[in-house]
Amino acid sequence: MAKRFEKAKHFTEKYKSILMPCKYCGNTDIRIVSERTIFPPKDGWSVCCSTHNCDTTRTYPSVKAAVEAWNRRAENGK
Ligand SMILES: [Zn+2]
Repeated sequence: MAKRFEKAKHFTEKYKSILMPCKYCGNTDIRIVSERTIFPPKDGWSVCCSTHNCDTTRTYPSVKAAVEAWNRRAENGK
């Protein structure tokens, strides 16, 4: 568990420069989060805005997919 938090922090640092600001609140403090889900992918990743209850992607099997999804959403607006 703790390891997953470490990994999430590591990935947040790694992808920080390419993560786009939140499309809702303009926040640039975007986090990569490790997710455990009941259904596959089970061990997945999502990207979320650090503002409470703001924006989040769904869970993806890879960090890269989650990052791409976040940026796609940010670009498209809405
Ligand atoms: Zn936000």
